[in-house]
Amino acid sequence: MAPASKPKRPAAPGKQPSGTGPLVRKFQRLGLAGPADFVVHLPIRYEDETRVTPIGHARIGAHLVLEGEIIHSDMQYRPRKQLQATLRDDSGMIGLRWLHVYPGQQARVAVGRRWRARGEVRSGFHGLELIHPLLSESGRALPDTLTPVYPTTDGLSQASLRKAIDEALAQADLRDTLPEAVLGAYDLAPFESSIRTLHHPPPDISLLQLEAHEHPAWQRIKFDELLAQQLSLAEARAARLAQRAHPLPGIGGLLDALRAGLPFALTAAQQRAIDQISQDLQRAYPMHRLLQGDVGSGKTIVAAFAAAQAISAGAQVAIMAPTEILAGQHHQKLAELLQPLGVSVTWLTGSQPAAERKAAMSDIAGGRAQLVIGTQALIQDKVSFHRLGLVILDEQHRFGVGQRLALNRKGETSDELPHQLSMSATPIPRTLAMAFFADMDVSVIDTLPPGRTPVLTKLFAEQRRDEVLAQISLQVRAGRQAYWVCPLVEESETLQLQTAVDTYERLAAMLPDLRVGLMHGRLAASRKAEVMQAFRDQEIDLLVSTTVIEVGVDVPNASLMVIEHAERFGLAQLHQLRGRVGRGTHESACVLLYQAPLSGIARDRLRAMYETNDGFEIARRDLQQRGPGELLGLRQSGQALMRFAQWDTDEALVEQAREAAQRLSTDFPEHAHAHMKRWMRDRLDYLRS
Ligand code: ADP
Ligand code: MG
Repeated sequence: MAPASKPKRPAAPGKQPSGTGPLVRKFQRLGLAGPADFVVHLPIRYEDETRVTPIGHARIGAHLVLEGEIIHSDMQYRPRKQLQATLRDDSGMIGLRWLHVYPGQQARVAVGRRWRARGEVRSGFHGLELIHPLLSESGRALPDTLTPVYPTTDGLSQASLRKAIDEALAQADLRDTLPEAVLGAYDLAPFESSIRTLHHPPPDISLLQLEAHEHPAWQRIKFDELLAQQLSLAEARAARLAQRAHPLPGIGGLLDALRAGLPFALTAAQQRAIDQISQDLQRAYPMHRLLQGDVGSGKTIVAAFAAAQAISAGAQVAIMAPTEILAGQHHQKLAELLQPLGVSVTWLTGSQPAAERKAAMSDIAGGRAQLVIGTQALIQDKVSFHRLGLVILDEQHRFGVGQRLALNRKGETSDELPHQLSMSATPIPRTLAMAFFADMDVSVIDTLPPGRTPVLTKLFAEQRRDEVLAQISLQVRAGRQAYWVCPLVEESETLQLQTAVDTYERLAAMLPDLRVGLMHGRLAASRKAEVMQAFRDQEIDLLVSTTVIEVGVDVPNASLMVIEHAERFGLAQLHQLRGRVGRGTHESACVLLYQAPLSGIARDRLRAMYETNDGFEIARRDLQQRGPGELLGLRQSGQALMRFAQWDTDEALVEQAREAAQRLSTDFPEHAHAHMKRWMRDRLDYLRS
């Protein structure tokens, strides 16, 4: 189901930019379809062709227009065929060189002719030169604005782009979407002049300001982009509040029984989250809540309470986890908690035996399964629910927008949507949350359960493996367990698997007193479950694994995590892996084994891991290194929504845009509509996910 207001792509006003089929396809690769798209395809830099530079002032690296007389011209054949000429004016001379020579070209640059030559100055064999300069008649009028250089794609020339964009600028509606009152309040430049300035800046503009996106023209465009985001988020929210959902109050004694059976007391932060969710579930419109809490903060039990409440009210609940191991673990834990209370718990994954899967699907469709836990297998077409009232996404950032929506749709009926709870260990900085999740209510678990000691992180160079082995033996003798995570092998999954198998055999041989286990993605689901169970039951001391244990896995007795080739992992990933230990009351350590020499980025990452255990700080540094798309699970859609503004440097603008969005919606609804139409078009799907 789409938000009530999901707009169709508007018919492009005026004709499409001129061009043949292949050209149109190249434009499409850049996301350019109608004139409105071309208008906001903005330059990455500029070249100054507005004036002729005296040849004597030419400097290496500059893009210049030079003018003068050819005083030498010569076809050379060694070391390869090339046309070599010299251009001179009153101030000096410079070489011109062509490596691809077409017929008649030599005559064009005959000695005595005057030309204007344009290109980048390089240092050549005989001094400064231009390679393949563009020649034009000397004395012709010069452009009076800077020449834009646009982001482009293979085989698409700047000339074609410039032509199409200029045509679009002539056709498109550039009227301002904002009323005077708003322009004045935020001191914004008009849209049309901003756009024209960015495409064709006057030669005396500050290039520094322009290229740093700080010029008032850029401020306006960034403001517009952020405003469109805020408006559409507000609209999605209004649309959601207008939707129906089944109210799910806690009925009977299920919730009390669940609480009574817990082996620990809930933390205040957990209780607060449970209460907030409980309120949401009782409403007649769909909940859309994000539960944030660092690794190990105890999100699963909060999910259990949400599920129990929904089930007590007669609904089915689905929990989707990104890996089979995690789904298996949730299944086991939640079944342990809820089955004794009479709740029927089922699970569904892709690698289940066919008969088991078929039975599960029939229970799900018939409504006999009240709580269903699974992997992406849950969103297959053939899976249908009887009465899905609540969907829970664990590690939500690991799912794409489409997957999140697909699960949501399983609970959609002709007049109702399911409630949705997303869980994530990745804290999102405020600006980003405001820009991307304005339509999600957020609950935060900001304290860890009592008695935890922070994980000690150690950096060891590869050569110190022996010390690490000694540590493992020590921990095991003290009754603890350990993980050994094998390196990522980018090139191939098979290779990665092989590495895990080899490491397992080597470690088993080197630590003959220890019971060593092996876990990787290719094991059959039943085998994975057996291995995890053996580890949980302390029948395995050291678990050698690929990154399949990265998220969610919870074995509180494990107190040592060794990550081999830690320099190959991303920051968020390292933090998640480290979060596999320190989940009980034992002192825990994480050893990052690395291979020197380290790249600058790898060094920064390992240093961040060493310096902080705080998931928020880790996320901040990760964002700086990688940008928000990856982190939020928004991939392209997220990036497309923040093309010009920056989540970290434009914080003040985000605040302003948010305020302006409220004002526009209440006082100027028509402007708000026109603004969204210009900026959002068909990018609204992510708002519901
Ligand atoms: P995460 O937030 O990473 O998903 P989990 O839900 O897996 O964390 O919980 C981590 C560990 O903490 C589990 O072993 C869980 O049983 C335990 N735990 C959760 N809440 C509490 C609590 N209030 N007191 C003590 N231990 C708790
Ligand atoms: Mg978890």
